[in-house]
Amino acid sequence: MAKARRQVTEALKNVDILYEIVDARVPESSRNPLLDEIGQGKKRLLVLNKADLADPAATRAFIDYYAAHDLPAVAIDAQHSQGIQQIMSATHRVLAEYIERQKAKGLRNVLLRAMCVGVPNVGKSTILNRLAGRNIAQTGNTPGVTKSQQWIKTSSDINLLDTPGILWPKFDDPAVGTKLALTGGIKDSLFHADDVALFALEKLIARVPQELQHLYRVNATDLTQPLPDLLMTITARLGFKDDYERASWTLINDVRKGKLGRFTWDEVPVDDAAR
Ligand code: GDP
Repeated sequence: MAKARRQVTEALKNVDILYEIVDARVPESSRNPLLDEIGQGKKRLLVLNKADLADPAATRAFIDYYAAHDLPAVAIDAQHSQGIQQIMSATHRVLAEYIERQKAKGLRNVLLRAMCVGVPNVGKSTILNRLAGRNIAQTGNTPGVTKSQQWIKTSSDINLLDTPGILWPKFDDPAVGTKLALTGGIKDSLFHADDVALFALEKLIARVPQELQHLYRVNATDLTQPLPDLLMTITARLGFKDDYERASWTLINDVRKGKLGRFTWDEVPVDDAAR
C-alpha cells in the first residue's frame, strides 16, 4: 500500500490534472479518500463512469453535490463511448487559468497533461482507450502505477499517461464493502454472495417490487417474508432447490447487468463534510 501510494504520488507530479474515476452507481463508495491527500494542490476532475447503469436522477444529484463542493464532475459511459468529449471540455474549463498563463508567456498550443486514477474495475483502462482512440491500456488490478510510463496523444491538446494509477478500495464501513461487491469492485472470492444478495433484495423490494416479482416469478406476498425466506423462495423458483448461494449469484449478476433497472446504491451525503 505504501508502495502504491508512493508510485501514484510520483506520477502525479508530472500532470496538470488528475481524472479521478469512480463508478456512478457508487460514487462515494468507489472513491479512496487517500487521493484527497496525495492529490492535494492538483486540479481534479471527477469522472462518474458506468452512468449507463446508474439512476440518472441520482447521477445528476451527485454532480450537483460535487460542484457545490468545488469538485467538477462529469458522468460518462465509457463502454459505449458516451460523454468522452465532456472530459475534454471539462479539462479546458478546469485548467482555463493555467492555459491563459501559458499563453501570456507567449506559448502557443499549450499541452495539457492528465492521468487517470481510481480503484480497480471502475473503468480506468476503458476510459484511457477511449480518450486515446485506440487500445493502449492493459487492464491490471495491482495498486500503484505499473510498467514504464509514456505520454499518449489524444485527439485534443491533452496528453495522457498511458498507465492509470490504481488505488485499493477503502471500506472500513461494511456497507461500503457490500456495495463494492455488488457492483463488481471487489473480487468475487472475497465476500459471501448471500450477504450481498440480501442487501440488494432489501433495496430492490423498496424500489422495484414489480420487476423483482416478474424476473423471479414471486408474488407480492412473497416480498413481505423475512429476507432470508424470500431468498429461499427465489432459489426454489429458479429451480436451484436449496442452493441459495447459486441463487444469490444469479441475483447479483442480474443486478450488475441492469436486468432490474438502473440503480445508484450510494446516497448523496447530507452532512457538509466536503472532501
Ligand atoms: P479498470 O480496472 O478501472 O481499468 O476497469 P476496466 O476499464 O478494465 O473496466 C472494468 C469493466 O467495466 C470492464 O468489463 C469494462 O468493459 C466495464 N466498463 C467500463 N466502463 C464501462 C461503462 O461506462 N459502462 C459499463 N456498463 N461498463 C463499463
